[in-house]
Amino acid sequence: MSQQQFENFTASSLYCDKCKAAMPVRERLLLVLPEKEIYDYLCTGCASSVGQREVTAGEKMMAQAMTARRPRRAVPISLR
Ligand SMILES: [Zn+2]
Repeated sequence: MSQQQFENFTASSLYCDKCKAAMPVRERLLLVLPEKEIYDYLCTGCASSVGQREVTAGEKMMAQAMTARRPRRAVPISLR
């Protein structure tokens, strides 16, 4: 039973020391720096921080490119 749950284990669920269990977490933007953003993971059970994640500017740009496809500048077509 618990092994099946591990297959679904993602960043949305982290081990919490206070709750002594893998708890669902909330992602919160903690800090924005020119080159990266730091996210804080808060346990939904006791609201304590159970982890952090850094997203560098490069990763963020890639993520944005994946999610929101920016329209590429069309190659100029010379009309006669
Ligand atoms: Zn907790």
